[in-house]
Amino acid sequence: MEQGLVLVINCGSSSIKFALVDPSQNDFLISGLAERLATNNDEGLLHWQQNGQKNTQALAVSTHHAALATLLPKVQAIAGSRLIGVGHRVVHGGEHFSSAQIITPAVLHAIRITVQLAPLHNPANLLGIEAAQTLFPDLAHVAVFDTAFHQTLPEHAYRYALPEMLYRDYGVRRYGFHGTSHQYVSQHAAEMTGLAVRNSCWLTAHLGNGCSTAAIVNGESRDTSMGMTPLEGLVMGTRSGDVDPNLHGYLARTLGWNLEKIDQLLNHESGLLGLSGLTNDMRTLEQARLNGHTGATLAIEVFCYRLAKSLAALSCALPQLDGMVFTGGIGENSALVREKTIAHLHLLNLYINPAANAACVHGKAGAIQAEGSVRILVVPTDEEGQIARDTATVLNKY
Ligand code: AMP
Repeated sequence: MEQGLVLVINCGSSSIKFALVDPSQNDFLISGLAERLATNNDEGLLHWQQNGQKNTQALAVSTHHAALATLLPKVQAIAGSRLIGVGHRVVHGGEHFSSAQIITPAVLHAIRITVQLAPLHNPANLLGIEAAQTLFPDLAHVAVFDTAFHQTLPEHAYRYALPEMLYRDYGVRRYGFHGTSHQYVSQHAAEMTGLAVRNSCWLTAHLGNGCSTAAIVNGESRDTSMGMTPLEGLVMGTRSGDVDPNLHGYLARTLGWNLEKIDQLLNHESGLLGLSGLTNDMRTLEQARLNGHTGATLAIEVFCYRLAKSLAALSCALPQLDGMVFTGGIGENSALVREKTIAHLHLLNLYINPAANAACVHGKAGAIQAEGSVRILVVPTDEEGQIARDTATVLNKY
């Protein structure tokens, strides 16, 4: 029987990633990226890949709506009558959602009132939903939340040590993000090793431009490094991760910085970029380290140490450890980061096999642990594929 196709849309503040997916085959019929949007100029570009061929087209107007209006006819021409729905990545679902949802007016309202918790992300997601609903009014639209998988965190893991009122009345708690990726790679790790996902325990590290760790017990997230927003936790491309909360007051009092400037610093000028003084891109940092760049060398050391520290901390949430999983652009490709991180984790009986580690790059999955070590796996993530499958599951129940 012919299966329906799902269009996956992942709207960022200045870009839209998209893919037309056959969820039953995990086949991507067309995928691409619209970038440099919302820049008030005519620099918007649409890149797409179809049948192994890459194409680029300049956008006449650099807005999310114009980019969707240009790409949707291409999608429609390929999908024909097989398109069954649109799956939207939504970063923050607050406490409202523990699974993917058909976007009804009530769901849209809940995403809108969560904007305060994710001012950098949810407004862009809303733009994408509204534009796609206008252009495809007859299709079902589904929201797949980054936070949903972490709604199983126990209260002792999600509460901050703050007065109850801030949680109760203002939603101040830890939510966690990258849930789609942590869920996918932990399920895939179980499949790769012949363990039942419902009877296995994993530490996962999603290391892309944003980075987070998670502790997963029998298919449920029990703790994660990101918190109320995607700023908490690990060192990331341009995000600081954890800093002393008193830093805000210190910068305000000593340098006179306002909240916007401090937000900008912690979200866009810190992390690997801030530490290295060079770039947020791990590939460039690795090359610069080989050339003796001290900032790049330090950035990689701090990144790996903080990552190892987070994994060790999250091991508290596990009754046993069946394996550790690396994923995301850095996790899937940087043998150096994996080796340096695992070197801090011998107390968890994690040891790396250098040859296997070097071989798992560019999308190759595999086990990279030394003999006698707890499993260490590289599992390429598949966020678009997982969003398509979640969307199809919701639509099949509909
Ligand atoms: P993502 O957000 O998942 O696309 O990941 C982006 C990050 O992955 C960037 O820091 C890239 O430099 C990094 N990355 C991609 N390919 C490689 C590679 N071959 N070696 C090291 N880092 C890589």
